Amino acid sequence: MQSPLRTRAWIDVRAPALRRNFRRVAEAMGPDPWVLPMVKADAYGLGAPEVVRVLRAEGPAGWGVATVEEGVALRQGGASEPIVVFTPALPADFERVAAHDLEVAVSDPRLLDRLSAVGRACGRPVGVHLEVDTGMGRAGVRPEQLDALAGALRPLRESDGLRWVGMFTHLHSADEAGGPGVGAQLEGLRSAARALEPPPSVRVHAANSAGAFRLGAEAGGARPGIFLYGGRVGPDQPEPEAVVAVRARVVRVVDAAPGATLGYGATHRADGPERWATLAIGYGDGLPRVLGNRGEALIAGRRVPIIGRVSMDVTVVNISGVPGVEAGNAATLVGRDGGEELLLDEVAEAAGTISYEILTGLAPRLPRIWTEAE
Ligand SMILES: *Cc1c(COP(=O)(O)O)cnc(C)c1O
Repeated sequence: MQSPLRTRAWIDVRAPALRRNFRRVAEAMGPDPWVLPMVKADAYGLGAPEVVRVLRAEGPAGWGVATVEEGVALRQGGASEPIVVFTPALPADFERVAAHDLEVAVSDPRLLDRLSAVGRACGRPVGVHLEVDTGMGRAGVRPEQLDALAGALRPLRESDGLRWVGMFTHLHSADEAGGPGVGAQLEGLRSAARALEPPPSVRVHAANSAGAFRLGAEAGGARPGIFLYGGRVGPDQPEPEAVVAVRARVVRVVDAAPGATLGYGATHRADGPERWATLAIGYGDGLPRVLGNRGEALIAGRRVPIIGRVSMDVTVVNISGVPGVEAGNAATLVGRDGGEELLLDEVAEAAGTISYEILTGLAPRLPRIWTEAE
C-alpha cells in the first residue's frame, strides 16, 4: 500500500489494472476493435491526463469527453488522437471545436450547415458523429425523423467544411441481465445507417462498457468508461479489476467510555467500552455522508464499521477488537487491504448509488497517486 506520509487522505490508482481492463474490452470487440475510452469528468475522477498517458500505447481510437472545455484541455495537454465531444453540440461551441480540432456529436442535422461554414472558415473540416436516438431519449435524431431531415443531412456527404466520421447510439439497459431493448436499439442504429448509407469510412458505434461485453463486434465500436475504471457492468458480465483504492490516515485513537457519544447529532453512543479511530476523510472528500452508521472501512486487513455521522473532514470507525491501530496508520474506504476488499460497487450500493457517482464525486483535495506496481 502506498503511504505518502504527508498525505492525509488519497487515492491509489493502479495503471496496470486500467490497462488490463482496456484490453478486456478490446478483446470483447473482436479481431479489429475500435475502442474509444471515455475520459469525461476527468476520466470519472481518476485524472484524464494520466488515463490518456497510460492508455495511449494500447491503440485507442481516440478519447471521448462530455464538454468542449474538457476536449480543449486534453488537446492543450498534448493529446494528438481524435477527441470526440459527446454532449450535443451548440452553435456557441463551433468555433472552439474547429480551432482545437475536436470532433462533435450532432443531434440536430439543421446545425450542420453552420458547423460546415465554421470548418471552412478555419480551413479544417470538422469531424462529425451523428447521434441516433434509439430510446435513451436525451440526445440524437429520432430514426423516424431521418427521412424528413434528408436535406439537412446533405452537408455530411457534400460539404468540404465537414468530415463525417461516425454514427452512434447510446444503450440504456445493457447492464441489465437479459439486456431489454439492447437488440432493438442496435437494430434502430442499423436501420438508420441503412437509410443514410454512410461511406465505409464512417464508424457505426453502439457500445458503452456493458454493451461491449453484450454485443462484441456486432456493436461496431465501443466507448467504454466505467469498466476501465473498475466499475461492474452487470451481474452476468465479466468483472473488471479494481483500479482505485481510497485511503485515509488514522489521526486519533481513543478508548471510549460506556455512554460516550460520537459525532453530530450524537447518533452513536458507546454500549460498553469501545475503541474508536478517527479517519482523516469525510464528505468534503467525496465519502458519501449516507455511509454514517452504515458503511465500513478496512484497518489492518479487517472490516470495521463506520460509526456516527460522516463529517466534512473526518469519519470515525469502531476498532474495538482490532489490536495495534495507531495514529498514522492507513485505513481503506474503497479497495483492498490484506485479505479483505471493499469493492467499489459494494460501497456504492451501501450509499444507495452507483460506482460512477462515487468515482466522479471524489474531491480534488484527494491526491491521485498513480502506480505501476502490481
Ligand atoms: C459516458 C458515456 C459512455 C460510457 O458509458 P459507461 O457505462 O461508463 O461505459 C459511452 N457513450 C456515451 C455517449 C457516454 O456519454
